[in-house]
Amino acid sequence: MLTARGISKTYKTGEIACPALRDTTITIAAGEFSALCGPSGSGKTTLLNILGCIDSSDSGELFLDGKPLAASGKDAMARIRRENFGFIFQTYNLIPVLSVYENVALPLTLLGRKEGVRDAVMAMLEKVGLTGMENRRPAQLSGGQQQRVSVARALVKHPRIVFADEPTANLDSETGEGVINLMREINRAQGTAFLFSTHDRQIMEHAARLIRIRDGRIEEETT
Ligand code: ADP
Ligand code: MG
Repeated sequence: MLTARGISKTYKTGEIACPALRDTTITIAAGEFSALCGPSGSGKTTLLNILGCIDSSDSGELFLDGKPLAASGKDAMARIRRENFGFIFQTYNLIPVLSVYENVALPLTLLGRKEGVRDAVMAMLEKVGLTGMENRRPAQLSGGQQQRVSVARALVKHPRIVFADEPTANLDSETGEGVINLMREINRAQGTAFLFSTHDRQIMEHAARLIRIRDGRIEEETT
């Protein structure tokens, strides 16, 4: 479904160049549930952001369903991202002044959706176990609950692939397992593909496919 071919990325701060990804090639198939594993600084965040079109690479190409993404232009690319990709972040990235309901509704609002928004949001909140909490602010929730809100926000528009950057790193192991299990349930029920990064062995074990990254290179893949 999504292929990145020959992706390289170097960050430059002043005189110092820091290669974050070196000639990386990876394919994400429809409906897969995969973990991107590697130590801190190995390039996990950079790769997820480039695959999800949040960041651009210095070289290499992205293909969605075999079509090159860059060829469609900036606006079209932004639309493709909004329609097809969902994101979950380590620190949740919820908007503090918005309620739980408003945070989850936001992706639909951004897509210009007007009809069926309330039903879609309430159904998603039920799925992640947060019914009755829709009027709370993020700060009035536990870390695990906040991450469930961000799972709901990522999934409310039914994306084809969700990128999750260390989604359990700020959670205790039991709560983290709960969030991964929730993602797995949604993956099975809706066929949404997930690519999540982690360096936690317990979390890796839930993945159907392990993708290892080290020094900006994908080292080994076991399926
Ligand atoms: P990970 O998510 O696996 O910890 P990152 O993708 O964040 O790895 O980082 C890969 C490398 O790129 C690291 O060496 C990191 O220091 C560097 N890096 C990441 N973001 C930036 C940035 N904005 N500016 C400069 N260097 C960066
Ligand atoms: Mg990271």
